[in-house]
Formats: sequence, C-alpha cells, structure tokens
Amino acid sequence: MRGVARMLWARGGAGRRFVAALPLLASLGCTRRPSAQLTGECRALGEGKTENATVRILRGSVVAEGKVRKAGRPRDCADSKKASTAFCSANAALSAAPAWLRPSGRLDVHLAASNGGAASAPVEVLRGDGALLLRATGPATPDVWMHELVHVRMHPRLPNGLAARRTARALEEGIADYVAAVAVDSPSVGATKERRRLDLPAFGAAERWAQLAIAKRFDPHPLGLLLARRLYGALKLSAPHARSMLRAGRQVTWENASTPGAVASAFVAVCTASDCPAVRAVLFAWLPEELRDSAP
Ligand SMILES: [Zn+2]
Repeated sequence: MRGVARMLWARGGAGRRFVAALPLLASLGCTRRPSAQLTGECRALGEGKTENATVRILRGSVVAEGKVRKAGRPRDCADSKKASTAFCSANAALSAAPAWLRPSGRLDVHLAASNGGAASAPVEVLRGDGALLLRATGPATPDVWMHELVHVRMHPRLPNGLAARRTARALEEGIADYVAAVAVDSPSVGATKERRRLDLPAFGAAERWAQLAIAKRFDPHPLGLLLARRLYGALKLSAPHARSMLRAGRQVTWENASTPGAVASAFVAVCTASDCPAVRAVLFAWLPEELRDSAP
C-alpha cells in the first residue's frame, strides 16, 4: 500500500472504505473511457457518435443464438473506449479494403457485454443479420477486419449434418484467411497473439480432419488455415482468385449438402469464373480422398 493510501487506511472508517474502493474507481475512471486523442479521432469520422455512413458500433444489443434480438445504440465518442476504438479501427480497415470486399451497405458491429469465456471467438458473424458481434478482445488490425468482412459478405446458411457443417465452416475460414491475405498483401494474418501464416506447408491435415469427426467443440480455424496455405501455395496472392472465391461463397447453397464432399462440390459448382479450375484442384487436394464425393 502506498503513502497516502496507507495514511487513509490508518484513520479507519471512511478512509478505509475509500482505499478499498480504489481498484473499482480505477477500473471505472481510467480503463473504460477513451483518451482525448481517441475521442478526437472518433469525432472526426462521424458526428460525435460511433456511427457514420460506413460503419455503426452499437452497444447494449441483445444477441441470442446468432441473431440480434434488440439492437443497441451508438455511443458518444467520449463514452466508451471499446466502442470508439472499434469505430476508428473499422473505419480505417474499410477505407483500406478493396472495393469488391466492402459490404454493400453500412456494417453493423454489436459490442458484446463480456468476452464470452475462453472458448468463445473474439468476433462472430451473425449469419441471419450479416452483422458482427465483437467481444472484449476485438479486432484491431486491418487484416483481422478483412477476415471478418469475408464472413459478412459470405455468411451462407450452413448444412445441418455435423461433418458437413464443420467442413463448410472450415472452408469459409480458409477462404476468409486467403482473401484477407490478398487484401492486405501479406501472407500473415490474424490477431497478434495467434498470427496465421499462409506461407508455411500444410502439415497435420489427418489430425485436423479427425477432429472434425470426433471433437466435442470444433474450432474451424486450424483446418481452414490448411486450406488457405494450399491456396497460397498454388495461387500466391491473387486478387482475381480471391474475388471469384468470394463471389462463389456468396452464391453457394449448402443447406442440402450432407457430407464434406458435397460441401466442396457445391462450392466448385458455383465457382464458374475462368480461374476456378485452379481453386477446384486445391479444394479437392485439401479434402481427404475418402471424403471426396467425386473425382476433381
Ligand atoms: Zn473467421
């Protein structure tokens, strides 16, 4: 305990109550309010609140089962460090994104009240709404936002069967990583703590595919990364390929796909651009032979 606090503590009564409340006051006063600089940057982008024509950061939304039940409100730029930070970084990423990756309308980002625990993703796409749910440790770097923009633009309905559903999620993650890498012109993407490098060999596929069948909780990112590495290995960073994959991801219908092979086949069936034969070959090479429904 430091000097003044020790003196107040020694006085007992109200002094002790004040010292005991210091950690709470610190958390309310210091860590949640934006700095003057951040407030200024936020105000320069909008009209004093965390919204403009490009993006809207909403706090207090009620979200259940991947759907927005009640939309929250934009915050004043001086109110919330988290909302203002998200607003500034989303605006920076959207203005840097290639035109074909930007959402057609305004992007809604709902701030979650908590980080959802260790098993929850820091960002989740709300498939029914085409919006994002941002938890405590949200995205900050442009490549993380680019990855999420791919989910916002694709968000296809997923198959019902477990293996098909997990394959579709992994396929979407692989495309999101590849397109994000193309958008930022770097083969390294993801949050600082867990950078995902596309310029490494796609080792460990058998173990990841086994997880798809047996894991109680399935994280689609590692298996998706193996696809992204294969895409990078075959195509390098190619904007035309990234565009055609994004287009196919917007058109694909997976609801009736009942097997992993059917998920891949449905994707290549709508990938009709001239460069899709290359994507098709990569996709079927990613899928283990015994899971393929048809020859590539
Ligand atoms: Zn993702």
